[in-house]
Amino acid sequence: MKPSSVIVIGAGIGGIATAAHLSRSGMHVSVVEKNSRPGGRCDRFARNGHQFDAGPTLFVMPRLYEAEFAQLGTPMRELLDLQRVDPTYHLVFDDGSQLALTSDLKAMYEQLEAIQPGSFRGYLRYLEEGHRHYDVAMERLVQRDFRTAFDFFNLSNVPLLFSLKPLIPHYRNMSAYFDQPRLKAAFTFQDVYMGLSPYEAPATFSMMPYTELAHGVWYPRGGMVRVVEALMEIALQAGVEFEFDAAVERIDVMGASARGVTLADGRQLEADAIVANADLPYVYKHLLPEDGLAGPLARQRFSCSVISFCWGLYRPFEMLSPHTLFLADNYRENFEGIVRRLTLPENPSLYVHAPTRLDPSLAPPGEDTLIAIVPVGHLDETGEQDWVDLRDRARQAVFHRLASLGITDLKEHLKFEVCFNPLSWRKRYNLMKGSTHGLCHNLTQLGYFRPHNRHPRYSNIYFVGASTHPGTGMPTALVSGRLAAQRVLDDLGIRP
Ligand SMILES: Cc1cc2nc3c(=O)[nH]c(=O)nc-3n(C[C@H](O)[C@H](O)[C@H](O)COP(=O)(O)OP(=O)(O)OC[C@H]3O[C@@H](n4cnc5c(N)ncnc54)[C@H](O)[C@@H]3O)c2cc1C
Repeated sequence: MKPSSVIVIGAGIGGIATAAHLSRSGMHVSVVEKNSRPGGRCDRFARNGHQFDAGPTLFVMPRLYEAEFAQLGTPMRELLDLQRVDPTYHLVFDDGSQLALTSDLKAMYEQLEAIQPGSFRGYLRYLEEGHRHYDVAMERLVQRDFRTAFDFFNLSNVPLLFSLKPLIPHYRNMSAYFDQPRLKAAFTFQDVYMGLSPYEAPATFSMMPYTELAHGVWYPRGGMVRVVEALMEIALQAGVEFEFDAAVERIDVMGASARGVTLADGRQLEADAIVANADLPYVYKHLLPEDGLAGPLARQRFSCSVISFCWGLYRPFEMLSPHTLFLADNYRENFEGIVRRLTLPENPSLYVHAPTRLDPSLAPPGEDTLIAIVPVGHLDETGEQDWVDLRDRARQAVFHRLASLGITDLKEHLKFEVCFNPLSWRKRYNLMKGSTHGLCHNLTQLGYFRPHNRHPRYSNIYFVGASTHPGTGMPTALVSGRLAAQRVLDDLGIRP
């Protein structure tokens, strides 16, 4: 019998993972990707001897990667050569004072007690809560699917309302552990990865600082792109076919199901099922017939975006550690500016990545490669944001912050700059509103409330990736890939 066929739209992390699972289960799988390379947001480019991870720079939640690679049939450590980055981040505050987040408890004790006497005990209690949140959230929320309302709203989930503190804002919850606003900021800034301000993110997200400190932040030798290469190896070995520079123009539907896709060059491809890895709200708006669902989706809340600067530099700036985070004292105002007013705050918190500290081959000898990432609001409806002005202000903010570390001559040693802003993210990967993390992760857009991985009307159109369950991030995209593949197989009655 001819194997069932599936077309995956997009070769992002979620798309490649779904394709590999389906192919390993005997389906005939083709992936069509609009760009000329796989990886989607996990992108890489090289210029004049410098190499840049243009998207993700943090390999976090290693246990999730490990579990998902195992599900794909290959131990992660066979494919990736990981080195631990510890301290994970160097935090720099407005007055130049610093806090190095590390798994070394003695070093944490000394630093925390110097900032707020007695705070080390609070830190240990906070980690304990983060540990609990991580374990419960992974098992009950992240690694499973919510296909029906009953999967979510059942009595066995009621205790989660208490154990995961979903109704308590993360920042407010910090008062139970720390008094010092800088310490509250030091262990909540990760909420921005979910597109949320800590003033509204559920306290559940204490699992993020916990996993970063307990399980580590890692760096795959060769860069984050190694994850893409590893997945491609698995997918190709499983028999997945890839076609690059092949943008899908529409999904062809007839009645309540899809027949295939039409590519931008006019070719029509047929399949028994379609899995869309392209950003879900974009797919509803641009690839599917208008049926009243795209509008409400576009009105959901989206995560923020970023302006990023990729700099090739004529000399090394060794004083920068791999991950430096400049945290503004006007913490609340910062989030308000990004999340509510969709702009760049006056004194933005920002992140600088120095990958050559981890892999010197990423810059020519005696030179440096730096990436600065400044969170900013996503594209608004008016189209009146001035991205040239915002870019210049963001660059100035990075220079100003670097000066607090004694780096005052970066501009003079600049070899070249490549800059990305929300317009670039939209153009490169078709991300709705240029939002780098897709639909945000507030309570009303999580679990059963997040757009599901199967279309409500078309029985054979599925979704995978950041804007569907479980949400943003590379390891979560792997989970999303497994869950979407499982749904396709269940619907077709195929047992892996
Ligand atoms: C700047 C930045 C920093 C980040 N930092 C981190 C980090 O440090 N750690 C972390 O874990 N995560 C990070 N993330 C998030 C992470 O990159 C994403 O959550 C994850 O890679 C999303 O994967 P995905 O499966 O949703 O697919 P995507 O990466 O969105 O891929 C979808 C693919 O579909 C393709 N496509 C779109 N439209 C079409 C079409 N019409 N036809 C054909 N193909 C199409 C796109 O080109 C793309 O390749 C970051 C993201 C960004 C942008």
